[in-house]
Amino acid sequence: MGGGGANHSWLTDRSRYVAGMECKRKRFLTYHSGSHGYGYTRNTRPLEMVVGTFVHEALAEIIEAWKPTEQQIIDAINKAVKGFGEQAPFMALEYEHDDVITEQSYLIGGLVYAWTKIMLPVLQDEYELVSVEREEVWHPSADPRIGFMSKPDIVLKRLSDGELGVHDFKTAASVTESMVEEYSQSIQLAVGTMGVEQRLGTPVTHNVIHFLQKGSRSKGYDTDEKTYSLPKRQESPFCRVWKREGNPPLVEENWQPKFKYRGADGKMKTLSRKDYPRVNMWESGRDLFEWVDELFKDQRHVLDDMFVLAGPYPRQEGMIHHFTEEMVAEEQRWIESLWALSDTKLEETHPQFQSLLNMKFPRSYQCYGKFGKRCPMYKGCIENAGAQLSDMPDSYMIRVPHHEPEVEQMLARGITLPGAVAETEVLE
Ligand code: SF4
Repeated sequence: MGGGGANHSWLTDRSRYVAGMECKRKRFLTYHSGSHGYGYTRNTRPLEMVVGTFVHEALAEIIEAWKPTEQQIIDAINKAVKGFGEQAPFMALEYEHDDVITEQSYLIGGLVYAWTKIMLPVLQDEYELVSVEREEVWHPSADPRIGFMSKPDIVLKRLSDGELGVHDFKTAASVTESMVEEYSQSIQLAVGTMGVEQRLGTPVTHNVIHFLQKGSRSKGYDTDEKTYSLPKRQESPFCRVWKREGNPPLVEENWQPKFKYRGADGKMKTLSRKDYPRVNMWESGRDLFEWVDELFKDQRHVLDDMFVLAGPYPRQEGMIHHFTEEMVAEEQRWIESLWALSDTKLEETHPQFQSLLNMKFPRSYQCYGKFGKRCPMYKGCIENAGAQLSDMPDSYMIRVPHHEPEVEQMLARGITLPGAVAETEVLE
């Protein structure tokens, strides 16, 4: 069964720990099922998750350079956008408009480029770079077989007091107060520090979340049907803008990022629909980076509003203490139960195997989560109970781990991975 074995480090992470707490069967199917023992995921990825992944990739490369040249920034963005485009076959796009990959590429490009204008100088002034997206494996002293994987986005040393902090990026449609509050009690943040501390031998005293607000994606209005039933469009000045055509010398061409704006007199105003039709950025003939530069120079507040810093959150000492005991005991139960299954030497579809599975890893039957979202395992778990997910290639594929140590372990065991990006928990 995947995740380790008698002679290997037992690799685990927060995602599977939390999945197992929600539903034991979900963790089993996602992380441990199949003859290879590494589990399955849906064979398409949510668009938002893939966008978030490639925003992270571009940011990581830029921060790694720390004081990057303009060309390095543009190269990092172009590389991320190319990688994003290559993921199209693995994304669930059937209800999207034809230009969605281009639209979201502009979103990635604009958001990351704007971040380098607004936030990168702040980091450079206030911190020293320690590491970027470094894989950490924390071995708790109570059971050194267990390797708890984490990959903090960046570790920075605060120049004012020399304290170490873990900083994570989150892309979100918009940031709410409850999201900011939620992170003050986040196990993700708390345990993300442990591997860093063990490796560096220095305490990590705080966490910071860097939110990048993308804007909403809402269904378009169908004027014939008089309903919001057209494919979703991204609300972002990097994707769609309002453009007034020029009529020199009487009227200059003019571009606006928002339909509603605050005028010089402080009052809210709207553009004239007749004078300012909306255009897709990629059809405008205008360079995205030049447009962001113009916004930075003339309407900086539009870019400022996109970036929200949450924290610094102090280290959650109590949570770390409790979690360490809870996690070690829970992982030991998983090791024991998986070996009991493995010892049967039976196929997963065998009734005796299924019976033991029911007893060791019961279903929660809490299959609908936030906003009525159905568990990705539903098809294999409920609709086709007892089936092997490997027999459902239209729905599932081998899980692609998002931590390198596990990828290396899988490759060393001769397991071939599909070309999809790993499923991560990018906040929406
Ligand atoms: S479909 Fe329901 S019971 Fe099955 S793994 Fe998901 S949450 Fe658990």
